[in-house]
Formats: sequence, C-alpha cells, structure tokens
Amino acid sequence: MEDCIFCKIISGAFGTEFVYEDETAVVFKDINPKADIHLLVVPKVHVADLNECSEELIGKLMAVVKKVTVKEGIKSYRTVINTGKDAGQEVFHLHIHILSGGIK
Ligand code: 5GP
Ligand code: ZN
Repeated sequence: MEDCIFCKIISGAFGTEFVYEDETAVVFKDINPKADIHLLVVPKVHVADLNECSEELIGKLMAVVKKVTVKEGIKSYRTVINTGKDAGQEVFHLHIHILSGGIK
C-alpha cells in the first residue's frame, strides 16, 4: 500500500535486514527498541490492524512468532498487538511486537 512505512520496508525500499522471512511475513528489529530484544512480525499483505485480520492470517503470524523465537533462541518473551490509536497503535499495518529482556 502506498504511503505505508511497513509496506515499503517489506518491498526492500530501505534495505532493512530481516531476521526471518517466509511466504506470510517478515520479521525485523524495531527502530526504537523498548527491550533488549524488540522484533516486529509483519504480514506481507497490508492489513491495517487485528480487527481487519482473518483468523487464518493471525494463526499464521503466531506460528511465525514461534518459529522466529526458536530460530533466535528467545525463550522468554512478551507479545503485544496494539489495535487502534487509543491503544497506542502508530503504524496501521498489523504487527506483533516480540519483547525480551529489560522490557521498558
Ligand atoms: P505500534 O505503536 O504501531 O504498535 O508500533 C509501531 C512500532 O514500529 C514502534 O515500536 C516503532 O518504533 C516501530 N517503527 C516505526 N517506524 C519504523 C521503521 O521505519 N523501522 C522500524 N524498524 N521500526 C519502525
Ligand atoms: Zn502496509
């Protein structure tokens, strides 16, 4: 989607390094980390938020959380999905935060 920062990242416009990638999602480091490890799981398809997300896609994204944490050896972590402006969502392309260690 035009003017979506995460769509641009997914397209490779900024050369962002992906910690993990498959047919469903990419995972990259948050630019403003709120923990020692702060990753974002982002679907390749543009979906604004959890309200707009199918059960099938959220299931696949949670599977990506499991895969990337195993791959990175992250055993204890918090997952966060902010839905809507009032809940603190700033980027309106669905993403799952993975936070581990020194969570602020
Ligand atoms: P939200 O508040 O929408 O749940 O989270 C958006 C997150 O995206 C924030 O933690 C913010 O630091 C991160 N973010 C915003 N723009 C960029 C960017 O251009 N690159 C990366 N890697 N993270 C971003
Ligand atoms: Zn997008």
